[in-house]
Amino acid sequence: MRKTVTKEENAKKNTRKDIKKNTLIKQTEDGLKNWFFPRHCPVCDTVLGGNQLICPECKDIPRLVKAPRCVSCGKHLERQEQVRCRDCGGKVRNFEWGIALYEYASVHDSVHRFKNLGRVEYAEFYGEEIRRFLLPAIARMKGDALVPIPLHRSKLNSRGYNQATLLAKEISKGSGIPVREDILIRVKKTASQKKMDHSTRQNNMKKAFHMVQNDVKLKTIILVDDVFTTGNTIEAAAEVLRRGGVEKVYFIALAIGKGL
Ligand SMILES: [Zn+2]
Ligand SMILES: [Zn+2]
Repeated sequence: MRKTVTKEENAKKNTRKDIKKNTLIKQTEDGLKNWFFPRHCPVCDTVLGGNQLICPECKDIPRLVKAPRCVSCGKHLERQEQVRCRDCGGKVRNFEWGIALYEYASVHDSVHRFKNLGRVEYAEFYGEEIRRFLLPAIARMKGDALVPIPLHRSKLNSRGYNQATLLAKEISKGSGIPVREDILIRVKKTASQKKMDHSTRQNNMKKAFHMVQNDVKLKTIILVDDVFTTGNTIEAAAEVLRRGGVEKVYFIALAIGKGL
């Protein structure tokens, strides 16, 4: 009996030693990573020190989307008695509902650098904020998988990463929901939607996505994207998933803005 206790004690001691060693290795790795690839503030883009994810002066600049919110897309509503926003009003949506973290206007430049200029490390800060504020809503979605809005292969090759995948991985860390990139592909190169009117935008997204497989029969999918404006992208992806047999589609976006 005595021997067993000693063994257990030894094992505990070794585990403690391992934890210490691993923590030290992790700290050294983090230090080196920060030395070679310094993290930048997602708001002002200056180099951050230590384990900072944002500088203290900038932390209140990204504005959270406040209630009242549209019951479909989660966009902030001007009046309390409104139920849906102008973009969702009178429309049958293919998704159940969705939620976004920030007002797009407050993080416009940040999202641009995250998306187009290689600031992949911003995902750490965004991820922490999404986990902090949106986890209860995400839990209510009861998703079987997080599916990032895919990029066309040529765009993925030139950019090197998909910003929606980075966000989905961060959401997965807090929720435990797996990220699936093998469900949906983008088959059409879509032109930038920024300067298009509403109907051109809708046509632009038609047949943009293709559902590859659903062999494990996922019932509920949570789409993840960086920005939601009128919702045409999420709508087109949700439609394809629903046609492919997915029962419910929700979405999470980093930022949401007014439709044009
Ligand atoms: Zn800053
Ligand atoms: Zn809406």
